[in-house]
Formats: sequence, structure tokens, C-alpha cells
Amino acid sequence: MGLAQNVAKDGLGGLEHNFITARLEDIVKWSRSRSSWPATFGLACCAIEMMATGAGHYDLARFGMEVFRASPRQADIMIVAGRVSQKMAPVLRQVYDQMMEPKWVISMGVCASSGGMFNNYAIVQGVDQIVPVDVYAPGCPPTPETLIHAIETLHQLIEDGEIMRRRKASGAGADVHVQEIPAGNSTPVILGVR
Ligand code: SF4
Repeated sequence: MGLAQNVAKDGLGGLEHNFITARLEDIVKWSRSRSSWPATFGLACCAIEMMATGAGHYDLARFGMEVFRASPRQADIMIVAGRVSQKMAPVLRQVYDQMMEPKWVISMGVCASSGGMFNNYAIVQGVDQIVPVDVYAPGCPPTPETLIHAIETLHQLIEDGEIMRRRKASGAGADVHVQEIPAGNSTPVILGVR
């Protein structure tokens, strides 16, 4: 960034380099949405699809998200990938509590979101009983396309501030539901479709 020696005389042409202006709040939200690292946390078969999403074909690195952090203190997003057993629930909550604010939660698959076909005493019937869920990705398992749809929706919610408005209104997570996208579907995704 350069300094104009005589703005009145030279105008913007007096600057040595290009520059941009923006509100600090917008820059913070923009950078948060593009630097969110997921916690390394998989619970069941959905986690295989999550791993595929991070691998070469789908390449989460495109979204600044290739770094799955083993330490919750370095993670921003918890992707609950798979069914949550009653035994695992306190562990999941502990991992969530150890993550730094602001932090976000994606519920991946019907088992995490509602217990799915495991309607029994051993499985938590919805991870929103344990942590506040911001985005629900449907499917059994959700395809990598669906997970990326959920991730991009989350990014958009962070960037435009909608996620905080929804959290304030609900007193919990943003509670956004995205559509399932079949495998191999090349149709462009419309962000914000709920
Ligand atoms: S939603 Fe399907 S793929 Fe995912 S954990 Fe449940 S049974 Fe496995």
C-alpha cells in the first residue's frame, strides 16, 4: 500500500499501488468463512464419505479446508459424520467444548440428525440434543456433493452474518437444512436452498 504525497494535486493517481477499502466486520466474516478447519472426527460409515470429500477428487483444499485438525483447539467446524451412541455423546460434547469460538456444527447423515434407522436405546436420536447444529446434510450416507453443499451453505451463512442472527433467534444452532445431491450430479448448486 502506498502513500499519496499530495492527494489534492495527484488524486488517486498519486498512490503507488492498488488498494481496496472495506468494513472491518466484513473482512473478519469473509476470512472466517474461508479459513474454517474441520475437527478430525468420524463416527461411522458417513465418515468414509467425509474422507472422500477431503481427498483428491473432491478436494476440500479448494475451500481452505484440507487441514483436518487433530486438536479441537485448532478446529472451527465439527462435522458429525455418523450415528452418535449414548456412550460417545459425552466425548463428542467434550470435543465441542474444547473447540474455540466461533465454532460451527454440520450434522452429516440421517443417523447423526435423527438416529436414522437406529431407533433404539443405544443411539442418540439427534445430535442437536448434544451440540447446536447449524447445517443438516441429508442422506445415508450424504454424497460428497451433499457435504460440500452443506459446507458452502455454512460458509455463506458465516459470510453474510445470517448464522449469528439465526443462532440468536433459536438460542441454539442455525438449523439450516440443505437438499441432498445424488452422486455424480453435475448440476450447479444454488446456495442457500433449504
Ligand atoms: S446415515 Fe447411513 S452411512 Fe451415515 S452413519 Fe447412518 S447408516 Fe451409516
